[in-house]
Amino acid sequence: MDRTFSPQPNPGILEISPYVGGGSTVPGRDDVLKLSSNENPLGPGDAARDAARDALRIPEVYPASDHLHLRTAIAEVHGLPVEGIVCGAGSDELIALLCRIYAGPGGEVVFTEHGFAMYRISAQAAGAEPVAVPERDRVLDPDQLAAALSDRTRLVFIANPNNPTGTMVSETVVRKLADAIPPTALLVLDGAYAEYVEEFDGGATLVGERGNVVMLRTFSKIHGLASLRVGWAYAPPDVCDMLNRVRGPFNIGAPGLAAAAAAVRDRDHVTRSRTMNTRLRSRLHQQLAGLGLESDVSMANFLLIRFESPAEAGAAHSHLLSQGVITRRVDEYNLPSAIRATIGDEAGCRRLFDGLESFRNRREAG
Ligand SMILES: *Cc1c(COP(=O)(O)O)cnc(C)c1O
Repeated sequence: MDRTFSPQPNPGILEISPYVGGGSTVPGRDDVLKLSSNENPLGPGDAARDAARDALRIPEVYPASDHLHLRTAIAEVHGLPVEGIVCGAGSDELIALLCRIYAGPGGEVVFTEHGFAMYRISAQAAGAEPVAVPERDRVLDPDQLAAALSDRTRLVFIANPNNPTGTMVSETVVRKLADAIPPTALLVLDGAYAEYVEEFDGGATLVGERGNVVMLRTFSKIHGLASLRVGWAYAPPDVCDMLNRVRGPFNIGAPGLAAAAAAVRDRDHVTRSRTMNTRLRSRLHQQLAGLGLESDVSMANFLLIRFESPAEAGAAHSHLLSQGVITRRVDEYNLPSAIRATIGDEAGCRRLFDGLESFRNRREAG
């Protein structure tokens, strides 16, 4: 082999621990229940599914590069200006683009201790320094976050509600943070789970009021379109301009664009999904407490279930797997004694509960 070639990755790339998605298979089982990636157990509504299928009939034609049809639907439903909206291949792409545009060597990207993994990965991929700020009992601590800001800060990412904790901070706290952001930085409010919180705008009002706040949303969670990879940003005009310079012109395929436009207009499906989630989430939270398993009050479509130790969390995860139920270990989120479980449908929640109940019983018997 010719050893004279030695391409070198850019600064930061070698520090990345690749993202590991939620598991989806269990060897030897064909009745798997996937509660590992916070997908909507109802899937998308019929209108979204039909729109995706229709769009698949002409795969030879490039999709729209201005995403105007989808952006118009989002703007109308959310009451936002269409020119303030930029769509991405999932909000993951928008997170990566923001890091590429605004952060780089010498800059810092700030997020919280239990914040979403893509913030760190995208910061490192851009050559910037990731800064993880401690939380207080799995909730963002505004004082510690403010203390981590400096003239090197380029981006501050906050998921509200946060994944994997499910906790949320108030609008007052978010406003104070926006005030504390240094002039060289942007505050990014990741509203991946915003629709699960009734009457919550995900931070859109704040974006409209300031030049330094961006809101991210996704079609992967409540809209049930994770596989089609569609997300969007609502951002000040200059941020939209930068995103549109850097993103690929055909970053979202036509099935995704069409399905997302139908999904955002399908308010009934959103309401149905939220209502079911809220009901099953609070019941499961109480049932688990009855087993002696603690979880924080979650504002999203999952529960972070806490155990006595990392070993116990691992044993619970394995026991559930043996029952065909896949949950998510969250060691890399600095939560080694917990597992994250998506709120499934009625039968799914029962199966999760039964699995955890038999786990607890086995422990007591053993
Ligand atoms: C799931 C998730 C996303 C979005 O994912 P995409 O599928 O890329 O849109 C973004 N942020 C958080 C906190 C999430 O949990």
